Amino acid sequence: MSAPRQLGYEKSTAKLIYLITNDLHFFSFISEQLSHFGYYVQEVRGYKKFSTVTASHRSVAVLIDVSKDKNSSIAEIDDIEELTETPIPKIFISDSDTQDIRLASIRMGGVAFFTKPVNIVALIAKLDTLDSQSSIPQPYRVLIIEDQQPVAKYYQMILKMSGMESHIVFDPHMVLEHIREFHPDLILIDAAMHGINGADIARIIRQIDEYIGIPIIFLSNDDDFGKRIEALDLGGDDFLLKPIKASHLIAVVRSRLERLKTLRSYMFRDSLTNLLNHTAFRSVLAKEVERAARSNNVFALAMMDLDYFKKVNDTHGHAAGDSVLKSLARLLIQRLRKSDIIGRYGGEEFVALLPDCNAEQAFQIVDNIRKSFSEIEFYHSEKSAFSVTFSCGISTYPESPNAKLLSDTADQALYVAKANGRNQIQLAKT
Ligand code: GH3
Ligand code: MG
Ligand code: MG
Ligand code: MG
Repeated sequence: MSAPRQLGYEKSTAKLIYLITNDLHFFSFISEQLSHFGYYVQEVRGYKKFSTVTASHRSVAVLIDVSKDKNSSIAEIDDIEELTETPIPKIFISDSDTQDIRLASIRMGGVAFFTKPVNIVALIAKLDTLDSQSSIPQPYRVLIIEDQQPVAKYYQMILKMSGMESHIVFDPHMVLEHIREFHPDLILIDAAMHGINGADIARIIRQIDEYIGIPIIFLSNDDDFGKRIEALDLGGDDFLLKPIKASHLIAVVRSRLERLKTLRSYMFRDSLTNLLNHTAFRSVLAKEVERAARSNNVFALAMMDLDYFKKVNDTHGHAAGDSVLKSLARLLIQRLRKSDIIGRYGGEEFVALLPDCNAEQAFQIVDNIRKSFSEIEFYHSEKSAFSVTFSCGISTYPESPNAKLLSDTADQALYVAKANGRNQIQLAKT
């Protein structure tokens, strides 16, 4: 069964933003623009009402309009001291940009300041960072291979206290099975265990290509020190002497994991959009074909290409072009499901793999995104707003039964969409 899909923005799943303003035109502009990115804007008339409203809600941020124009402003910025206590991040917006007003907004605890007309792309970028700070990251997973129960439990407790998940293997002969099931991000190995030596276990793990990137840290007694060289030679990444201080264990484990995360992101992610890069997406696509074949599932592949993007760059500059690319990436992340896989395929080409989705469903979903995207106002300078569209070709599994055919047919459909006038979606002919 496929999970319910979000077709366009829905109030129930959208993230809440408050806007304190008297400017109705501004409210409808902000509300409409942010809705494309999965935010729902609630208007609050008058800052005094705000504290009563916010007590019962969770929201990403509050936007406070402190324009000089008396019709839109809620009050002089200096009069709204009560808002200083609000725990929700405050973003100030004004029709004038003076150092005084910026200073006042910082004194009130503002995390950002925008002038009208608000640059939506920049505002979304700010909201997204605030939103990601509030979401709880996945805990790291550490496999502990240690034959002394109390020692293993001690490590587990230390790791747990710093928010990591761990799993203990007491029997060193069962290691591979546990790795397969637990999918650790890092492995701690006791260098001296009954009947098997930690370095041999590392050697076994390192022979398996899939596990080659998992950091291994050896834990050993003073008198094993001679093994240190051997351990590092065998693909261990670090060596800790027992007894190990909690703070030391955490520091070493954490630094290994952070470094791994950075390395992984360089390898698999595109630096501008943080989406999967071409290589990473291709490998995911190949895996998805295998998975769908095994479980008799369907999925759709959507290839999107921005329309006349060269002209966007030529007219508004490369930096403006980059911000268009970033906002399409954000829009796709916001509007697709967690299980959908999104990649930047080339310069201005994006791909999305939608599991459990047939051609008609995929068409609906991407077409809603297409409409939203075309309505986003980008700003080059404060004076000139512009919009951009994309075209899309969609192929499906099993109609196209392998990765190459899926890409080729989606590409051909994209070509038809371009030829038919762009800003549209075409389904692959199979
Ligand atoms: P079409 O509607 O036929 O797709 O026209 P187009 O202009 O989008 O297609 P074309 O392939 O001729 O041009 C793609 C442009 O995308 C050229 C290049 O300058 C721009 N581009 C590619 N990568 C980037 C990037 O990372 N940043 C920016 N700003 N522009 C990029
Ligand atoms: Mg031991
Ligand atoms: Mg192109
Ligand atoms: Mg293009």
